[in-house]
Amino acid sequence: MKTIGLLGGMSWESSLEYYRLINEGVKARLGGLHSARCLLWSFDFAEIEALQMAGDWAGAARQMVAAAQALQRGGAEGIVNCTNTMHRLVPEVEAVVPIPILHIADATAQHILNDGRQTVGLLGTRFTMEQDFYRGRLEARFGLRVLTPDAPDRAIIHDVIYQELCLGEVRDASRRHYLRIIDDLAGRGAEAVILGCTEITLLVQPEHTAVPLYDTTRLHALAAVEWALGL
Ligand code: GLU
Repeated sequence: MKTIGLLGGMSWESSLEYYRLINEGVKARLGGLHSARCLLWSFDFAEIEALQMAGDWAGAARQMVAAAQALQRGGAEGIVNCTNTMHRLVPEVEAVVPIPILHIADATAQHILNDGRQTVGLLGTRFTMEQDFYRGRLEARFGLRVLTPDAPDRAIIHDVIYQELCLGEVRDASRRHYLRIIDDLAGRGAEAVILGCTEITLLVQPEHTAVPLYDTTRLHALAAVEWALGL
């Protein structure tokens, strides 16, 4: 089994999910007392969020690179970056850290294509919904058509992530907003919706909606398990 290096703490609420899902995945395949070989680098998210809000992506990249290097020194053979948003900095990390980074968008897109779907809605932070690093990859590498909510709804999605979910608060009123926005995306032609932020799975699950969902946390963790076990 290969050793997984988790870049986490963004937020720790979702890192907990990764840790659980990866260990459950290894146990499901190997049985018994087997569990994942992994290292976790857990940031102080307040520091990362301040860099994001300031638009200091170069400063954030320095932090990400240093953390990925520390994971490699500790024995990690591959990196799992436990946040969609910070995949913005994968090119900077890949440029200096020689071990592979398992990209969250690739893991997700592969499942969408396997299901024969082509048009998807995307929910995430405003960085993920508005910048090109994520939707551009889905479109250019996988030929997907990506729909995002309008500006007021993007603000709702983004604010719930930072002001509630990353603080461990799961509110019914926010779930209702999310479900209405998911329905709107389906009404515009989305065949499914990507939960493109690793905390959204804490708020919205498949039983809440008839619209098919792609939970990036679960799919990324699954990809990590398959990679670690060479499946
Ligand atoms: N975990 C979130 C994501 O998947 C948001 C927190 C962050 O900015 O990293 O995008």
